[in-house]
Amino acid sequence: MTEQFADDLLAWFDQYAADLPWRRTADSYSIWLAEIMLQQTQVATVTRYYERFLERFPTLADLAAAPLDEVLKLWEGLGYYSRARHLHRAAQMVIDDYGGQMPRTAEALQKLPGVGRYTAGAIASIAFGEAVPAVDGNVIRVLARLYDIPDDAAQPATKNALWARAGALVPARRAGDYNQALMELGRTVCRPHRPACDICPVQPHCRSYAAGTQAERPAKTRRASTPHYDVAAGVIHGTGAHAGRILIAQRPLDGLLGGLWEFPGGKQERGESLPDTLKRELREELAIEVEVGDCLVQVKHAFTHFKITLHAYECMHTGGEPVARGAAAFAWATPDEMDGYAFGKADQAIIKALREKPFRLL
Ligand code: SF4
Repeated sequence: MTEQFADDLLAWFDQYAADLPWRRTADSYSIWLAEIMLQQTQVATVTRYYERFLERFPTLADLAAAPLDEVLKLWEGLGYYSRARHLHRAAQMVIDDYGGQMPRTAEALQKLPGVGRYTAGAIASIAFGEAVPAVDGNVIRVLARLYDIPDDAAQPATKNALWARAGALVPARRAGDYNQALMELGRTVCRPHRPACDICPVQPHCRSYAAGTQAERPAKTRRASTPHYDVAAGVIHGTGAHAGRILIAQRPLDGLLGGLWEFPGGKQERGESLPDTLKRELREELAIEVEVGDCLVQVKHAFTHFKITLHAYECMHTGGEPVARGAAAFAWATPDEMDGYAFGKADQAIIKALREKPFRLL
């Protein structure tokens, strides 16, 4: 990217820049106020509030002397009220600590409450002509396209790299106009969807235009969708000495839901029916055989990194004395006795269904 880039951008800005009230002033307080208001609010809304605010508090000293309640009242409807509180506090700091003079560099401005890296860059360049960048969301998009950057722009390392590139591009002369031009280009021409490349003043410099990758820039890492598993669980009715009781198992102490009790079962494998999953898991975990009956209830549950649908089947115990192979322990319990065991949320839904449906022999 060359000086020609800044010249082309500024020539476009000179011809097409929107006429906004804060562009007609060189007063640092007014420019600061506009930048704070523009942080989370659309230009059209800011224009109304900006003029009203300046009528009531024409100077930084007026703002610093006002009660906070009045400042907040004037901010009402703009939202993000911490901006108003910070602005008020910062105005008082400028009066008390800086002798009423706004700091003139981006570095010093960042010491004021509510003034981050972007706002500091914008104020320092627009009000004081410091050749520093001001990188907002619009500028990130423009730069990611200009340089055809394939890295995820949401990552801090990519953002820092974009700030560095932005810094190298800022011209020594008219830095404030240049920063505003870049933001305006992002807002009006290099829009998120369907950028207007045909009328773009910096199209000859744009690498993603040349590569046809505008729609993929800024690059975003596709988040892997949350995996989903089907899990079969057995509500295993005992026979003989265990008639009227249901077999429950305690999860291994060191894993997910460690130490909680559950209706035993496991994850369905590819090509397996849910009843077959259940028979296999019960053999592996508890060394028992069951006859699988109807599905009692299906419960959907989300864990941090995956989701499950738990299919609870009524089963009859048909063979083998349980052995705690894959479980920490097991117990035969009546539905009422289950209150004395700690179950996870999904298994509690099975208990509820169990109590609501009359017990049926298979
Ligand atoms: Fe954005 Fe298109 Fe201009 Fe490149 S040519 S900066 S993609 S509007």
